[in-house]
Amino acid sequence: MTERALDKEVLAQRCRDVTENLKAIRENIARAAEKSGRSPSDITLLAATKTVPPEVINHAIVNEGLTHIGENKVQELCSKYDELKLEHCSCEFIGHLQTNKVKQLMDKVDRIQSVDSVKLAKEISRLAQRDGRVMPILIEVNIGGEESKSGVAPEALEELLGEIATLPNLSVQGLMTIPPISENIVNTGRFFSKMYKNFIDIKAKKLDNICMDYLSMGMSSDYELAIESGANIVRIGSSIFGKRVYR
Ligand SMILES: *Cc1c(COP(=O)(O)O)cnc(C)c1O
Repeated sequence: MTERALDKEVLAQRCRDVTENLKAIRENIARAAEKSGRSPSDITLLAATKTVPPEVINHAIVNEGLTHIGENKVQELCSKYDELKLEHCSCEFIGHLQTNKVKQLMDKVDRIQSVDSVKLAKEISRLAQRDGRVMPILIEVNIGGEESKSGVAPEALEELLGEIATLPNLSVQGLMTIPPISENIVNTGRFFSKMYKNFIDIKAKKLDNICMDYLSMGMSSDYELAIESGANIVRIGSSIFGKRVYR
């Protein structure tokens, strides 16, 4: 085979794998939802698409009905964006975001899940006003208190929400978290429970201009536990697309 024909075959196989993986993951999500007294349709599956080529992402969207994707690097999203078929798919930002890069994202994303400071929220608000639109956001919480991770500390969450609530053209829809990596799923479960408690406590306060509809947590290794712990958005990458190859 020529190299091109080989590439084409590799791509076709990758798409077949994605189809199969999505089927299994959707079944697992439905089971976890029912186990926690919710309907499968209450849970949003967002595919984390870093390192995945646009052809494969488009297969998942167009042929498998994927409705949400998330990228975590501004540069990667911008380089893939024009090739993505996003007419029926929400494109979200899920990675650490520097204030000076918000500009590049505004016309590309439908929601930003990783807002963790007033400074960042102010810049999104300013650009949303300029564009005459409202930007939906989630607030990222550093539930494990890790130095290395972004996200607001749980203790500082309510104060941050109070400040963000006053900014125009933002719609706060809930919380997002990435718990510490742990070999032991029991530890992960503790962080998920802690996060759910924060979510419920904030929701009960009914803060002005703040909705607490979404809790985004759970990835390939722990999404079922996350759903059973109260998540209604899961962000799944490698279980859908295979092991990531960085080049
Ligand atoms: C990559 C990524 C995921 C998905 O990780 P997997 O372990 O591959 O499922 C979820 N959330 C964020 C923010 C990511 O960057």
